[in-house]
Amino acid sequence: MPIYEYICRSCGRRARIYLSYDEYDHATPACPHCGRADLKRRVGRVTVARSEETRLDDLMASDSLDGLEDDPRAMGRFMREMSREMGEDMGDELAEVAGRLEKGESMELIERSMPDLNSTGEFGGDFD
Ligand SMILES: [Zn+2]
Repeated sequence: MPIYEYICRSCGRRARIYLSYDEYDHATPACPHCGRADLKRRVGRVTVARSEETRLDDLMASDSLDGLEDDPRAMGRFMREMSREMGEDMGDELAEVAGRLEKGESMELIERSMPDLNSTGEFGGDFD
């Protein structure tokens, strides 16, 4: 949903308002600062309401997290996706873990064969 940027004629402050394209045709949004419906649209300032942060939130909140612990392949994919979303290199160890998970190896098996893996607890969780 796009954000429309308005400027309030009453109080002179800027307001960012979420409207669907449909709503935008009919809506007379009120100023969130003073409550007056006296907003003037600032043309050309439409932003798509999607930041890094909300993308990450979406990912964390998505249903794809359900059953991850029972599904090594999904877990591996999730690890890669998280790393990509955060724009961080996951590191050789985690990359290996993700790769093995995607091949269907269980987290338990991987942890047993990689005893140094403790530092990756944020991804590993309670698998034992
Ligand atoms: Zn106002």
